[in-house]
Amino acid sequence: MDFVFEPLPWRVIFGVGALDRLPDEVARLGAAKALVLCTPEQRVMARDVARRLGENSVGIYDKATMHVPVEVARAAREHAAALGADVCIAVGGGSTIGLGKAIALEFGTPIIAVPTTYAGSEMTPIWGLTEAGVKKTGNDRRVLPRAVIYDPTLTLSLPPALSGVSGMNAIAHCVEALYAQSANPVISLMAEDGIRALADSLPRVVREPTNLAARTRAQYGAWLAGASLGAVGMAIHHKLCHALGGTLNLPHAETHTVVLPHAVAYNRYAAPDAMARIAAALGADDAAHGLFDLAVAVGAKTSLRDLGMRESDIDRVADLATANPYWNPRPVMRDGVRALLRDAFEGYRPAS
Ligand code: NAD
Repeated sequence: MDFVFEPLPWRVIFGVGALDRLPDEVARLGAAKALVLCTPEQRVMARDVARRLGENSVGIYDKATMHVPVEVARAAREHAAALGADVCIAVGGGSTIGLGKAIALEFGTPIIAVPTTYAGSEMTPIWGLTEAGVKKTGNDRRVLPRAVIYDPTLTLSLPPALSGVSGMNAIAHCVEALYAQSANPVISLMAEDGIRALADSLPRVVREPTNLAARTRAQYGAWLAGASLGAVGMAIHHKLCHALGGTLNLPHAETHTVVLPHAVAYNRYAAPDAMARIAAALGADDAAHGLFDLAVAVGAKTSLRDLGMRESDIDRVADLATANPYWNPRPVMRDGVRALLRDAFEGYRPAS
């Protein structure tokens, strides 16, 4: 066994009612001018957050949108600068936290993240910005939130269908962490427990979206997943989803959900230890089958065709994913990747 272990400087406040600690977290940073970020749909939630900060809130910026277009980032930075914001409170999913990261990247403004989906951006130093339809990503410690407040109460309103696919997106981070080139034993423990927590809570969350115990367990899994994503490198699954999302503008979490069983089937024989851990955490005989069956159990779509991809796009995405591949336990070969995409396009259950 050999590995490098370098944990990130995370600060996590977790639990039902954890949002009550927000004013203390702002004070802990020595900040007094908090700008609350959100999407237009989450303005009511953001207003409650701003109210809790009283005179330490300078306002709400509610224009966060998927994949952080540069124009949105620019406008948000100008707004933050005009108000003299000294901390951003990002209340929402990966899109809102991504907007906070765009501000932090330019000005170094600290972020307190209040995640309300299971996407995991709050635990990573990875930023993304989209210009003219092309998404650029990078890694910079300045964008890692200084504190993350997980309050499962805030996830009760996440629609069941979105909860299911957002949770599958989180599982994808855990899965790839287990066979990452930079895998290490501590993150692998977290990743495995993340899969276990999400697999047993997501079907309950989808059936009973206001079940706070199930929501708490799902968000616990999402925390572990975000930590896994932030700490070790990702492989073919994330590369494919990046290509599909970036070029075809397919929905983020849904795309992860469809591709994951097929990416795992692709790596099945190249990462046997990881496969055994994934299958055990899912309570399944086979990792790829367990993931496909979980996607079905949460009511997710299982084919890229149903997400709006056209058959003629398969070759384009195969070219993109193999042109500059991420490290992967099984060599990334065009024929194999094309077959993987074909299966995901049709929505087949991965073969044995
Ligand atoms: P999202 O942030 O786009 O949210 C989807 C929708 O759900 C939005 O309309 C949002 O307002 C709504 N929503 C969120 N929480 C809600 C709640 N509790 N109740 C009601 N509505 C709610 O979706 P996402 O999947 O969280 O994030 C996707 C984006 O994040 C992508 O752009 C992806 O690339 C990025 N991402 C980045 C990282 C990273 O490390 N940089 C990691 C994961 C995802």
